[in-house]
Amino acid sequence: MLFLMGLKVRLLGVRGSLPSPLVPGEIENRIRSRLSEFVELTRANPALTLEEFMASLPPEKLGGFGGNTPCIEYTCGNDRLIVDGGSGIRTLGFELMKGPCGQGKGEVHIYLTHFHWDHLIGFPFFVPLFIPGNLIHIYGVSNQLESVFRTLFQRPYFPVSYEQLGAKFVFHSLPPRVPQKLGEITFTPYQLDHPDPCWGVRVEAGGKAVAHCVDSEATRTTEDQLGPDLPLYQNADLMIFDAMYTLGEAIEKMNWGHSAATIGLDIAIRQKIKQVVFMHHDPASSDEKIQQAVRQTLRYHESQIKSARRLNETLFSVDWSFATEGRIITFE
Ligand SMILES: [Zn+2]
Ligand SMILES: [Zn+2]
Repeated sequence: MLFLMGLKVRLLGVRGSLPSPLVPGEIENRIRSRLSEFVELTRANPALTLEEFMASLPPEKLGGFGGNTPCIEYTCGNDRLIVDGGSGIRTLGFELMKGPCGQGKGEVHIYLTHFHWDHLIGFPFFVPLFIPGNLIHIYGVSNQLESVFRTLFQRPYFPVSYEQLGAKFVFHSLPPRVPQKLGEITFTPYQLDHPDPCWGVRVEAGGKAVAHCVDSEATRTTEDQLGPDLPLYQNADLMIFDAMYTLGEAIEKMNWGHSAATIGLDIAIRQKIKQVVFMHHDPASSDEKIQQAVRQTLRYHESQIKSARRLNETLFSVDWSFATEGRIITFE
């Protein structure tokens, strides 16, 4: 019997553009509101446990969607591909330090979609880079990979220079749309629609495929328009999609390089993608505002289902959600 190891996707940073922590006043208000709600509810139902109450709360009423910028971890067995080095990569660095990286025997593989600050800002705080003996592989569709790292680690922006970093770097300038093997994981770069070139990635492992489509305005949506980048999306089991804006904002902010959940949902239905996670939340969006976008997407999806029913058609079923930091998606 052939045993396939499962692909695991971990969302370490899902905010776009700028790290956006909840401020103390917001946290205090949230704690105050939930405490008084819990007290009120237990008056009517004394058997209600704290765990049950917390499990019933949506993200905007509890921990929120998260404030760290993009970093997604793909693992299959012992193989790991990290996509982007936003502020979310910092905590992953601490985790990796508990393994071979802490002894200078680690090998880390990081794919960069593009070089906007929000996708690089975690690197100066990614501890494995400072440990002599570690080997850091950086992949991207660019011949600027090394010069970007030299720029990141230089005064007056950061006190440790590139030459002083303990780890050794290997830069892999990838050809577009050519599959790369990393143990059990295969990853293939495809171009997205962004003001500076941005290369999404199709990650395949354990018989499953993920279309990683962040950052993208998704101005090309039909099969003809997508042309050579169509295979990024086709029959993916999961799509991670840039939904920084509501549909109205995406129209207002045309050419800013980001999209909306409703656009991603259309692509998923057309390309038969079973599951979609929307991320790159706008730093200007409160958790309540993101929840409004969830409701807008739900209304849009329901209207699509109704109009398909009127035409006696069956709409491809898509399970979608808005990303929360720390979430893990596993496949059998
Ligand atoms: Zn971004
Ligand atoms: Zn960007």
